Amino acid sequence: MSKFLDKRLQETDAYTPGEQPRDIQYIKLNTNESPYPPAPRVLKAVSAEDIANLRLYSDPTCKVLKEKLAGLYGVKPQNVFVSNGSDDILNFAFLAFGRENGAVFPDITYGFYSVFAQLHGVEYTEIPLKEDFTVDYKDYLGINKFIAIANPNAPTGLSLPLWQIEEIVKSNPENVVLIDEAYVDFGGESCYRLTEKYDNLLVVRTFSKSRCLAGGRLGYAFGCKELIEDIEKIKYSTNPYNINRLTLTLGEATVDNDSYYQQKCSEIIQTRKAVKESLENEGFTVLNSDTNFLFAKSDDISGETLYLELKKRGILVRHFGNERIKDFNRITIGTPQEMDCFIKAVKEILSGGKQ
Ligand SMILES: *Cc1c(COP(=O)(O)O)cnc(C)c1O
Repeated sequence: MSKFLDKRLQETDAYTPGEQPRDIQYIKLNTNESPYPPAPRVLKAVSAEDIANLRLYSDPTCKVLKEKLAGLYGVKPQNVFVSNGSDDILNFAFLAFGRENGAVFPDITYGFYSVFAQLHGVEYTEIPLKEDFTVDYKDYLGINKFIAIANPNAPTGLSLPLWQIEEIVKSNPENVVLIDEAYVDFGGESCYRLTEKYDNLLVVRTFSKSRCLAGGRLGYAFGCKELIEDIEKIKYSTNPYNINRLTLTLGEATVDNDSYYQQKCSEIIQTRKAVKESLENEGFTVLNSDTNFLFAKSDDISGETLYLELKKRGILVRHFGNERIKDFNRITIGTPQEMDCFIKAVKEILSGGKQ
């Protein structure tokens, strides 16, 4: 760190992404990517001409993509925001809506919320999840601060019912409530329709998980026209071309091929059910999941040891050092074949077998 770095940045703990090692070909069950490629027609969506057109800037209004998303979800384009990954949108939202009254979010949740709060000098409070790792919606009623809740939550995989989200939104009319629906396509109940009724609700989504496009960097959000204008203003004050031409094209084709992704989500849900059962048969405690991952612990092996033993066998899962969840690992749902390898490795490790 140089002596020139701004004080606030000196004090910000940057987000730690899941590891992306390149030494061997791992079975990657650590960053909740899709194990499936994008739809066949998306694979063919980018032509040599599109690459030649990279000499031109991308459309800063993202008109076509917004119209397609609006069509798919039955809202107006003016109620849709798109950006370079949903992390970008979370960043904008903390900057736009957090400073005035401060922010709250759960103690166990997506690690980026506290990073963005620190980055923008937003005072924040972390509200502990209940003993069973659920969010107690009553903790957020009338709290009068900017609220960020991942629903379903990560890394727990648990979700709140729609009516509880509505209670939170309704009881905080003077503050923005951000609901991060990164995983909603895997079984949660979306609240995006409530954006028509409440002017303080921002619903953030991503193409990274259910849309098989993590490397393309594309996120979107729903909100009332004014909220969307607010975050557009930040985008236009930082980087109006923040979605590149190729990703815009791929995103448009993705929306056009929605049924493929619905099919892949249901396959992942099926695999998740089978893996949960297998882990429970091995004595694991596995939280319910409305996501493309499972959060699991065993009384027979520490979370960290299991993580390390799996890594030795070429399988990556995500372990968090945080005291409250250090016994757990977060396991992304891969293909059925990958999950067979995973379960086989778990059995071998638990029986003390050799790698
Ligand atoms: C993965 C994830 C994101 C970030 O998604 P990108 O669109 O890839 O930036 C946001 N929120 C949660 C809860 C996530 O798990």
